[in-house]
This record gives sequence, structure tokens and C-alpha cells, in this order.
Amino acid sequence: MRALRLPAWKTEPELVEVDEPTPGPGQVVVRIGAAGACHSDLHLMHDFEAGGLPWNPPFTLGHENAGWVHRLGSGVTGLEVGQPVAVYGPWGCGRCARCRVGVDNYCENPTAAPVPGGGGGLGLDGGMAEYELVPDARHVLPLPEGLDPVDAAPLTDAGLTPYHAIRRSWPKLPPGSTALVIGVGGLGHVGVQILKATTAARVVAVDTREEALRLAEECGADLTMRSAEGTAEEIRRVTGGRGADVVLDFVGADTTLKLGVAAARTVGDLTVVGLGGGSLSVGFFSVPYEVSIQTTYWGSRPELLEVLDLGARGLVRPKTTTFGLDEAMSAYRMMQDGSLEGRAVIVP
Ligand SMILES: [Zn+2]
Ligand SMILES: [Zn+2]
Repeated sequence: MRALRLPAWKTEPELVEVDEPTPGPGQVVVRIGAAGACHSDLHLMHDFEAGGLPWNPPFTLGHENAGWVHRLGSGVTGLEVGQPVAVYGPWGCGRCARCRVGVDNYCENPTAAPVPGGGGGLGLDGGMAEYELVPDARHVLPLPEGLDPVDAAPLTDAGLTPYHAIRRSWPKLPPGSTALVIGVGGLGHVGVQILKATTAARVVAVDTREEALRLAEECGADLTMRSAEGTAEEIRRVTGGRGADVVLDFVGADTTLKLGVAAARTVGDLTVVGLGGGSLSVGFFSVPYEVSIQTTYWGSRPELLEVLDLGARGLVRPKTTTFGLDEAMSAYRMMQDGSLEGRAVIVP
């Protein structure tokens, strides 16, 4: 079969011919219907080097996958060949306190996981191929009625990651509150939809790109702003001086973190989702009183079930552009130069 593999750090991926995977006991091979291209894949290609992560290339890219059950390993029950499924991406040990409740993204015994702190497309072979081997059937979730793999694939990361970040801040998003979304790319635009579908907050979206602001409007943002000097003051002005109850930074650069703090309301949340590598100094005089600052990484398996439900009911629908496996690199190039709108989905 064909697979888009990262051969080494700081290289471009290559489309190569590899053997089709065979499922061992308890495992499942999924025929890939769609694999989302994530901004973090660009970091894998360009930024990391040996020792930076607990795993290394070569492996097949693609950590955002959905398709159909193709082959079941011995002992797997409850799934049928041909059934449409989504793949839960972070693969933990399955036995620690976090994994027991479906929070494999924060597995506390990573050395017992299939790969420490990773998953398919992150150290092990992912979904930018015709088939993907999933090492445990618990990661294979049947799709609800009304959701096909092309729409489901981006929900497993571009949907699940903002969903988790928003869900933990639900108590701070009652009617009358304001949520600020910084960065309306692959994750941010879905974040706007999730906020509208699951809270009564007013949603303000900020980006440097005019097209991104139009996408935010399409997704239901109540107000959009081109980020510039004075954006934080503008956010305070439109919130009656209070600021944003919840700030979701999908960029994570120094400038966006600075904006987030300047725009946050007292007792608010500032959640850093983007891998922009920025940092923030936190001290008594540098952040508004009782603002909680946190990072999040991906989401839990139970949360993915909830996201798939939102997707099947049409309440959350990532904007996607599809590419063939041989066009995957042009999708990444468009992502890099900012010309990609929404999420790129590779259909092998
Ligand atoms: Zn990702
Ligand atoms: Zn674990």
C-alpha cells in the first residue's frame, strides 16, 4: 500500500510503498477514509530533532483518522468489518488511572504504551496511508448515523482538542459571558462552532488574516477583529470594560499570549492550545486577579464520543478541503503559507 512517511527529522515526508499491516490479538486494521493534515505535522517535519520527543522517525504521518473496519485481530468483539469508525489518536498504556477513564492523552505510564506519549502518526504509523494498524480496539469508535469518515476525521483532533479546552471552561461561559478565540485556523474555526453549539457565550474571534475572520463569521462568531495594536483595549471596550471570561489561544506565540492576558477578565481562564512556542510571565502584578492559565493537550475518549455526536447532528462541521495522498505535500505547503482555509483532509 502507499503511505506518506516521515523518514527522518528535518526532512520532507515521502510517499512510498509499504506492506499492508496485519492485526495482532486485540488489534484492528482500519481502511482509511480520511486523514486530517495538522499544523503539528509541520513541526514534526521542520522543528524537532533527535532527543526532542520520546520517539523518532521513520513513521507514517496522520494522527487524525477515520475510515472503515478492515480486519479484526483475534479476540476483538463489538466491531464489524466494513463498519465506519473514527480512531482515537493518543494511545496510552490502557491501565493507569488516566487511561482507565479514557484520558489516554495524559497517560501516566507511557513506557507501557505502544509508543511513549504518542500514537498513530506520532511515533507509530498513522493514517496517511491506505490502511492503519490500531494497536487496541478500544481506540476504534463506531461513527454515529449521519457522519461519514471525511467529516469525522478532523473531529478526532481539530474537533476534540478545542472541545476539551472549551468543555473544561463551561462553568465560566454562562449567558452574558464572552469567549475570545485567538487564531481561526484548523482548530480555531471548529472552536468557534463548539462554543456556539455548547455555550451561550458571545464569541469574539481574532486573527491576522482577513479570510480567517470571514471563516469565523461563517462559523457563527458574533464579532471578529483583525489583530493589531489596541486589540485588547477594543475587546475591553466591547465587553463593557470587563474583558473576555475565557480566552482560547490557538496560536500560542508570545504576541498572542500577551493579547490573551491583556484581554482576560478577572477570574477568567486563559487556555493555551496552540504549539506556537511562546511564553508568558505570571506574577501578582502581571495577570488579572484569579485568572487561571493552563495548557491542554488533545482530549479524552469520552469527549470524542461527544464531539462525534455534535458532528452527526450537524452542530459542528469542520470546513475541509480534500486532497489525494499524492497531493498531501501541497496541502502542507498551503498550510505553511497561510493560504489553506479550514482543515486539509487527505483521502487516500
Ligand atoms: Zn494535531
Ligand atoms: Zn496510561
